[in-house]
Amino acid sequence: MSAAVYTGDGAIAVQELAVPRPGPDEVLIEVSHCGICGTDLHLVLEQYARPGSVLGHEWAGTIAALGEGVDGWELGTRVVADATPGCGECRSCRRGRPAVCLRREPPDYFGFRGAFCRYKAAPAARLLRIPDALSTRDAALTEPTAIALHTVALSGATPDDRVLVTGGGPVGLLTTAVLRAQGVTDITVSEPAGPRRERALAVGAAKAVAPETLPKAPMAGTVDAPFTIAFECSGHASAAEAALDQLDYAGTLVFVGTGHEWPRINHNRTIVLELTLIGAYNYEASGFAPALELLASGALPLGELIEADDVLLDGLLPAMERLAAGELAGKVMVRPEVQS
Ligand SMILES: [Zn+2]
Ligand SMILES: [Zn+2]
Repeated sequence: MSAAVYTGDGAIAVQELAVPRPGPDEVLIEVSHCGICGTDLHLVLEQYARPGSVLGHEWAGTIAALGEGVDGWELGTRVVADATPGCGECRSCRRGRPAVCLRREPPDYFGFRGAFCRYKAAPAARLLRIPDALSTRDAALTEPTAIALHTVALSGATPDDRVLVTGGGPVGLLTTAVLRAQGVTDITVSEPAGPRRERALAVGAAKAVAPETLPKAPMAGTVDAPFTIAFECSGHASAAEAALDQLDYAGTLVFVGTGHEWPRINHNRTIVLELTLIGAYNYEASGFAPALELLASGALPLGELIEADDVLLDGLLPAMERLAAGELAGKVMVRPEVQS
């Protein structure tokens, strides 16, 4: 099968690899689509990935073969794989936070287990059937949607909130759309790229602004029109600093986007305004099922959240570079085929 293999030094090559054999209690998945995640960009463009690995974890596909002992699944069934559940016993799980379970198996970004290829093996116990109302391609948005649901849940956002989202890329757009689906309407997206600002409005933001229009906070007190919650989705230090400046008394800043440079946090302001700073990572205890349900409900503008044109395996690296440059707004789907 063809696979997009990370070959080191920020390069990807399409190589022919053997089709994996599903082990006991595993199925073989024929990948329909796999989304490009910000993590994939960091791993490739910043060269953290291990040469020889195949990335891609936001996949959906159909069952192509059953391993030994697999029961209750049929060939051709359209599926995604659910999150690994928390162990239920470690101190994170006991505190009701299985997203940061201490016994979570490490992400498989570094081994040959990703889905920028035609086939991959997956544990049968984690499969979720894709609802009829949802295309397999759109179901590849399940994992990032589950993250957005977790992010919004941790933030405690309600329809009364005034929300700022910094960063109008795939993560910011999905967070905006999920907020909107949950009845939050007062959403402003801050984003430097004009096309991404337009897309933000299309997915449900009430306002989209350029970052330089966000005011600096006064020494004491708030800006004129403060926000109760800010979601920092860009990973840029300057965006996090600007987001903190926009918060109201008792406001909350949620760190969603990772990045190289660390923001400077004004602790005085955090103290005086009694701000809350939190991070969001991984999923709710309920896993991917609520995300699949939300995607199938029709409540999300999937045509705006997902880029219209699929990328093929040999187009993966150029697409990653365009995403990193902010030239693409929505989620880019990779179809595991080769152009030539
Ligand atoms: Zn991801
Ligand atoms: Zn645990």
